[in-house]
Amino acid sequence: MKPIHKLNGGIGATLCQLCSIIITTGLSQDLYCDKCLSERVKIDSEFKQIKERANNLMRLKNGFKDKQ
Ligand SMILES: [Zn+2]
Repeated sequence: MKPIHKLNGGIGATLCQLCSIIITTGLSQDLYCDKCLSERVKIDSEFKQIKERANNLMRLKNGFKDKQ
């Protein structure tokens, strides 16, 4: 996952992936603000679910071919 960088003329800013607030000015590798970081465990498990769902869809599209 890439950080969200916003370039509006100046040095730009790095935005939180989840709530889109500015984490820091300038371009950093941060993904989440402090508030969202404190909920990170929940976030990770949610991402995992989304990923698994996407993998299942991919498998359906590929006619159940499993590349494991
Ligand atoms: Zn946030």
